[in-house]
Amino acid sequence: MKITKLHGAGGTVMQQLIKDLILNNIELKSAGSLSLDDLDDSSTIKIFDNEIALTTDSYTVNPIFFKGGDIGRLAVSGTVNDLAVVGAKPLALTLSFILPEGFEYEKLERIVKSINETSKEAEVPIITGDTKVSDSVNDIVINTSGVGIVKKLLKDSNVKEGDAIIISGNIAEHGLAILLEREGFEFETNIKSDVSPLNKMIEEILDLDIHAMKDPTRGGVANALNELAEKSNIGIVIEEDKLPISEEVKGLCEILGLDPLTIANEGKVIIAVNRDDAEECLRRLRKTKYGKNAEIVGYATKEHKGVLLDTGIGKRIIDSPIGDPIPRVC
Ligand code: MG
Repeated sequence: MKITKLHGAGGTVMQQLIKDLILNNIELKSAGSLSLDDLDDSSTIKIFDNEIALTTDSYTVNPIFFKGGDIGRLAVSGTVNDLAVVGAKPLALTLSFILPEGFEYEKLERIVKSINETSKEAEVPIITGDTKVSDSVNDIVINTSGVGIVKKLLKDSNVKEGDAIIISGNIAEHGLAILLEREGFEFETNIKSDVSPLNKMIEEILDLDIHAMKDPTRGGVANALNELAEKSNIGIVIEEDKLPISEEVKGLCEILGLDPLTIANEGKVIIAVNRDDAEECLRRLRKTKYGKNAEIVGYATKEHKGVLLDTGIGKRIIDSPIGDPIPRVC
């Protein structure tokens, strides 16, 4: 068997690879409340009375510059967000480059400046790194790891019956922006990537009775909701008319035959919150820069398993996609 792009596309095929090949062959996997086996956005390390969150991610997006961002902004935001959604305050990042021979100096400079801007915006310093030049890559690859201090541990497996499900803003913009850039479509659109660090926004709501959080990146909202539902052993119902999505994205998805629920986001979070705190959570999110279009989109229930989309005339099952319909988005 050979590895294909599907194995890295954030859907069920990738999950199977991770479970069968990686998790089964690693024996020491736990240092705190969240271990490698949890396959959460970050894992944790117990240190005396505190818990540290740790995460790592490699970025190979194609193209490296796109409307709304670039691989540098993505490398900082993605790692910061994976810390923030487990309830950690990001403290510091690492930064590693693998560069192909011949990569243009000016491009690297532009990327590093973007990394700097995003790190300043998130107020998370970059404290160590590594640079390699290799003929085994054909474009720049960036790896960032991040550490944070856990403020309130949020596991994917903690969605509770009756929780309100919130999405923090308009969906499917990152993946579509990448696709438009890559394929050079003739459509004139204003669609741009939502890539952003969300730690400041998440800080505003952490004292509420939040049970779980996840950033719907590869595999989109459909994948993130299925992971939450499966790990929490609960059902989730989403009301289609509540989903925050721009008319432009909706229209383009129809033309291209894409399901916006399966398209990657890089500046959005899904929140499962005690329904008593849902309105307050929404109010606070909407006051932030990246949460203006937040909506309560559904609820968690014990009545069924998996994820259902209520279309108003009936309910259909939202499966985990087998892979992201648009590969190499992050
Ligand atoms: Mg994540």
